Amino acid sequence: MLYKAFLIKYAEIGLKGKNRYMFENALINRTKVGLEPVGRFNVIKEQGRLFVQCLGEYDFDEAIAALNKVFGIAYICPVVVANDNSWDVITKEVGDYIDLKYPTKDFTFKVEAKRADKRYPLNSPQMCSAMGSYLLDRFPELKVDVHKPQKRITIEIRTQTYFYTDSIKGPGGMPVGSNGKAMLLLSGGIDSPVAGYMIAKRGVSISATYFHAPPYTSERAKQKVVDLAKKISKYTGSIKLNVVNFTDIQLYIYDQCPHEELTIIMRRYMMKIAEKIAIEEGCLGLITGESIGQVASQTIQSLAATNEVCSLPVFRPLIAFDKQDIINISDNIDTYETSIQPFEDCCTIFVAKHPVTKPNIKAIIRSEKKLEEKIEGLVNEALETIEVINID
Ligand code: ATP
Ligand code: MG
Repeated sequence: MLYKAFLIKYAEIGLKGKNRYMFENALINRTKVGLEPVGRFNVIKEQGRLFVQCLGEYDFDEAIAALNKVFGIAYICPVVVANDNSWDVITKEVGDYIDLKYPTKDFTFKVEAKRADKRYPLNSPQMCSAMGSYLLDRFPELKVDVHKPQKRITIEIRTQTYFYTDSIKGPGGMPVGSNGKAMLLLSGGIDSPVAGYMIAKRGVSISATYFHAPPYTSERAKQKVVDLAKKISKYTGSIKLNVVNFTDIQLYIYDQCPHEELTIIMRRYMMKIAEKIAIEEGCLGLITGESIGQVASQTIQSLAATNEVCSLPVFRPLIAFDKQDIINISDNIDTYETSIQPFEDCCTIFVAKHPVTKPNIKAIIRSEKKLEEKIEGLVNEALETIEVINID
């Protein structure tokens, strides 16, 4: 295996001042967890970057794919470790590496060199110039460009010598676990898994709640939500999925309230229940996949009506996204194919022919008065009978 280490560069967490160590520790933790299925690695912090040492055999593509799911990583540099620190060995090994890695050598380059130990016989400018001359001698097709090189050849001399030429773009964002926790209302649709992914990308841990309405929604519909949670957990880390039995509440609303208001009232109860679970679990916000105008329950008036029942902030990362843009993300994170499986979630069954698109909050509250007799008991029962599925 050519690469015995990876240098991990992070961008945004570098700006965090005194709290920086928290972000770095979260990134170390997420990197370790992400690489666990790939092989044995040691992850350490080194001068504002992470250094991943490979302790055994591993598959390179798998390692890159795993690191590409760790939020907080800006760039991944696969690193070659020289056999010893003598300058002759280093120049030869850098040359061999360039020869192997770039069969055609029609590119411009620049050498960048650093030494941790100032007693090393060559200083940085001397190393750059010696390495540059060596490479130009050995590969006359190469050209130096110190301003806009096509390849940067970076050499770092520490207890061992590392060199690398590649910077693979990582996923960006902030490490999960560095920014609290929020509750995702996860349905089987396209939008909510994407919404959860996007908020997790800002460093937020995710819990999830799914409203299930058996027998109107099938076991397959529930399994689809579990599958989606598994898919996004590759990015978000473990997710506690709360499955709430929503059937009796939905039937009661269906019996008591005007049918054109069903969706809005149902959505308000989903938000209320999700918020109760969220507070119980220490979440500091709710997350939905709503986007302005996408369906009747997502007009700006409908959003105001569902929002009104919550005291926690509701994060709606897709609020201004077009459907196609959401689909593109779901494709990238591999949830799309699961989301489009044809198993109904509970909203699609109880929808009215002509739902209100501009609900009046006062009118909705008036309709909800008709639920007074039983709704509290039903909500409590739903909370007491939650099925918890832990997704690791
Ligand atoms: P999605 O594709 O995420 O299902 P949607 O376009 O189907 O969204 P709605 O059905 O109006 O839109 O739902 C809006 C949001 O409400 C969803 O993004 C999700 O966050 C939440 N939601 C809807 N149904 C459920 C459910 N059965 N369980 C949990 N959350 C739900
Ligand atoms: Mg839906």
